[in-house]
Amino acid sequence: MGVPAARIVFDESDREAVAEAVTEILATGALTLGPWTERFEQAFAAEHGASHAVAVASGTAALEIVLRTVGVRDRDVVVPAVTFYATAGAIVHAGGRPVLADVDPATLALSPETLEAALTPDTAAVVLVHIGGLITPDVDALRAICDRRGVPLVEDAAHAHGSSFAGRAAGTFGLAGAFSFYPTKVTTSGEGGMILTESAELRDEARIYRDQGKGSFTTNHHVRFGASWRLSELNAAVGTVHLRRLKEFVETRRRVARQYDAALAGLDGVRPVTEPAGVRSNYYKYVALLPPGVDRAAFKRAMAEDHGVRLSGEVYDLPLHLQPVLADHRRGPLPVAEDVCARQICLPVHSDMTDDETDEVIRAVTAVHRRVTG
Ligand SMILES: *Cc1c(COP(=O)(O)O)cnc(C)c1O
Repeated sequence: MGVPAARIVFDESDREAVAEAVTEILATGALTLGPWTERFEQAFAAEHGASHAVAVASGTAALEIVLRTVGVRDRDVVVPAVTFYATAGAIVHAGGRPVLADVDPATLALSPETLEAALTPDTAAVVLVHIGGLITPDVDALRAICDRRGVPLVEDAAHAHGSSFAGRAAGTFGLAGAFSFYPTKVTTSGEGGMILTESAELRDEARIYRDQGKGSFTTNHHVRFGASWRLSELNAAVGTVHLRRLKEFVETRRRVARQYDAALAGLDGVRPVTEPAGVRSNYYKYVALLPPGVDRAAFKRAMAEDHGVRLSGEVYDLPLHLQPVLADHRRGPLPVAEDVCARQICLPVHSDMTDDETDEVIRAVTAVHRRVTG
């Protein structure tokens, strides 16, 4: 009984496959930038219908490398206020100025209106974030605005492994997509990240940046200010093995989400973030907004203490313009971002979730909702 906030799923056969790969890697001594990195890149690109993939040390490194290649130093980069700190952190580390934009309450993503409101004469790039794994159906309109301005669109697809819109996968809508394999993400390599792109030039730049800016693997000529952004072969093996489960994980997560959709439709004032037509989320998170005025902390406490159901962290509980470290970039108010961050909860979704667990979450959320809304 009880449902945890998160569960990382490597079944016995996957653990054996990783152990075998680790043995091979240690025996050969090819510990970095070897065959497993290449295998991981090829499999991840194929899974998303992308031409090129470059594996890196983290999702943040993936974003920073793309932004460094674009060239954002001392220029503006539009970023939604509803995202993880790292999206803005990567912009600042690449030398750019984050311009925080409000979001669409239906998708928690940039909309054409919020993007237009944040563009400046000095915008160098726009970063779109697929919160919870949901790709906004406005993605083509956002791309068109960027194209008109001659500004590249970059996807922070850390949440969106295997998500799609109109049959196209996350990471393929703009110049590049940045993915994270942090342990909680839909597939993981322990730590790691990936860049997807159609641009052979960006792929080549990314390979230089990830290896200390070296012009080639075997020389010591440094042509870019890169860093230690390589993925180890050990991590690449873990990621390659986990990626084989992506389709099955997404199916399971989507089945859970359909059950939550049906249950939450009956709860007054609760508004789940649902999929618009053509959108296929991986349900990294199942996000729902509580009615205005409900104490989220008390709601979560009641779920945990009275029902043993632990909710995961929000995406996110504080918009970026209110993060202390981004005070210099504060602009606002950004009313939708503030509202959706204050009222959202994330129901647990696991890649191996059972119907019994899903039912337990539904019973708990129904009971706590009845109590708090009287
Ligand atoms: C996890 C995450 C990142 C950062 O990924 P790391 O691999 O931890 O560097 C960036 N953006 C978003 C939206 C994320 O959720």
